Amino acid sequence: MMAVPTTLRARIDAVHAAIDRAAKQYGRRSEDITLLAVSKTRSSEEIRQAMACGQRAFGENYASELQEKSNVLADEALSWHFIGPVQSNKTRLIAERADWLHSLDRERIARRLNDQRPEDRPALNVCIQVNISDESSKSGVAPEEVLGLAEQILALPRLRLRGLMAIPAPTDDPIEQRQAFARLRACLEDLQTRGYEVDTLSMGMSDDLQAAIAEGATIVRVGTAIFGPRSG
Ligand SMILES: *Cc1c(COP(=O)(O)O)cnc(C)c1O
Repeated sequence: MMAVPTTLRARIDAVHAAIDRAAKQYGRRSEDITLLAVSKTRSSEEIRQAMACGQRAFGENYASELQEKSNVLADEALSWHFIGPVQSNKTRLIAERADWLHSLDRERIARRLNDQRPEDRPALNVCIQVNISDESSKSGVAPEEVLGLAEQILALPRLRLRGLMAIPAPTDDPIEQRQAFARLRACLEDLQTRGYEVDTLSMGMSDDLQAAIAEGATIVRVGTAIFGPRSG
């Protein structure tokens, strides 16, 4: 058995407890909420320790880190989620290594991923990243652009559109947090109304998990609350 730092196990337990609490409070089922452990800047050894606590889904922001860690952990049954900005010269790596991409916001990138997804792998699960708090971030499409990009993705057989992702502007105010997540939820419901079979809301991080679950998050992306503060 590998030695798992007690702090890591305690943090993962605490995150699961927070998810369970929020699910209960808002009439949701914990099983419908996937905990994605954001392992950017963390070592493969730290990922192994989280695995020993039952964690299987890991989120990476940088293609170089995805490459390195998916090599080291190639024999493990893990689910790799790419959640960072996608540069066009990194699409092949993502197409080959990732199970999910949360941060799709351009047709050109979608086409490259579609062309580069290996034949022997299932279609790449993708979420459209939506900019729901316009000022702060340059990533993501505007809410009124979601439908257009969704239509383009639908025409790409090696991509499977699963839903939407957002990183709202940080705020401590739980009401503002919920308002932002409610906007993403409204975008997803709009797609569903138009017949899209989308089921995923990737939203909520260490500091706004409860608000995200209240508004229907199905994947929460948690880094700091699992692995501790990142240095640098
Ligand atoms: C870093 C990151 C997270 C995790 O943030 P924490 O505050 O450490 O939980 C989630 N999503 C994205 C896109 C990130 O880049």
